[in-house]
Amino acid sequence: MSISNLEKNKCCGCMACVNICPSCAISISKDKDGFIYPAVDSEKCVECHLCEKICGFNPENQSKSIPIKAFSLVHKDRTTLRSSTSGGAFTALSDIVLKNGGIIFGACMNDQFDVKHVEAGDSTLRDSMRGSIYVQSNIGNTFSKVKDYLEQGRHVLFVGTPCQVGGLMNFLQKPYMNLIGVEFLCHGVPNNDFFKAHIKFLEEKYSENAKWYTFRNKKYAWWTHGIEEITFNGGKQKSSKAVQAYNSFFHSNLSLRPSCLNCTYRSYERTADITIADFWGIEAVTGKKNTAGVSLLLANSAKGYDFIHSINQNEVDLEEIPFEKVRFRIATKPAKAKRDPEAFWKLFHEKGYVELVNVYTDTSIIGRVRFWIKKTVSKYSN
Ligand SMILES: Cc1cc2nc3c(=O)[nH]c(=O)nc-3n(C[C@H](O)[C@H](O)[C@H](O)COP(=O)(O)OP(=O)(O)OC[C@H]3O[C@@H](n4cnc5c(N)ncnc54)[C@H](O)[C@@H]3O)c2cc1C
Repeated sequence: MSISNLEKNKCCGCMACVNICPSCAISISKDKDGFIYPAVDSEKCVECHLCEKICGFNPENQSKSIPIKAFSLVHKDRTTLRSSTSGGAFTALSDIVLKNGGIIFGACMNDQFDVKHVEAGDSTLRDSMRGSIYVQSNIGNTFSKVKDYLEQGRHVLFVGTPCQVGGLMNFLQKPYMNLIGVEFLCHGVPNNDFFKAHIKFLEEKYSENAKWYTFRNKKYAWWTHGIEEITFNGGKQKSSKAVQAYNSFFHSNLSLRPSCLNCTYRSYERTADITIADFWGIEAVTGKKNTAGVSLLLANSAKGYDFIHSINQNEVDLEEIPFEKVRFRIATKPAKAKRDPEAFWKLFHEKGYVELVNVYTDTSIIGRVRFWIKKTVSKYSN
């Protein structure tokens, strides 16, 4: 196997290979759909094969274990809960590290709608990481930065997709007691260029420049699984059916990275110390109902289990649940596209985003009325 000749569905774009290459022979390139892949400069390559040995997407290089225990978590602080996607697990976990003078690495979107992994050493910067962004974040040189902090003895908490956490673990090549790897249960990721095409489509439709975008807004009840909202420069906000097109492509798996349709991380066995997720179906497991959001946590290592137990119990409602009761929440097979992704991308290149919306989303009056009812009910049941 060579990193340069990998089939598209065998590279998750975690960029561990770019970060580890001792001769800086690997750079990032984009394919025509906008997905990033490593590109090897054969002149600079010294054929050490390190990139292949640490490729986290290759199942042979993955180290996994069955979760020890599961937990439900709801943050008690209303503001934190409202600005978090699920129950606020990320804030509760990252607070432990910040209190120890540690560093948090997570994804952020800037005002140009670029999604990147960044670091935070205080709660203000950390808070800006809240919120699920349904875009593959650019890792850049994050893994090297994580290693520098770990070698200095600082505590580090890294959050990302399972393949990003797996990529980091392989890049480091040895365990560090001062690192906590946190993954979320991942549906899959579209690319940043495609998301920007969605923004451009909305700017043209509403003749205004976009200022901000939320993929799941807690203005609407958590059970909606996400209502998207765009904010324009003038302050106007829209969450129309057209705005929901991006999530519709995401949930039908058409806009996902090819490797997500071949994901090697979907398994009961997990790579990170801790897995976080939406606790869908909590009512059936604990009998408790919650419209503001609940997190599911899985402790996958002894380190992860102890870390969850060090969460400040005054700030959260934390309940231990046997793993067997939440097994149903874990997908063990890769996502399957509901229609042909090749035809989807072909139409996008030939006719543009607007045509994708016309062909692949329900723009009928009945569809729009149904969506309006869901949005209104969710707003007032919140
Ligand atoms: C692309 C994507 C797919 C997901 N798929 C599922 C799923 O199928 N099932 C499920 O139960 N949960 C899924 N989640 C996780 C869920 O939406 C919540 O992010 C998670 O439960 C954490 O909630 P919270 O309240 O603790 O987080 P918040 O406080 O909202 O924090 C979210 C954390 O996720 C990180 N993050 C956000 N976007 C990205 C990104 N694009 N790349 C890397 N890190 C990011 C942030 O840095 C932050 O650390 C997904 C999240 C993302 C981003």
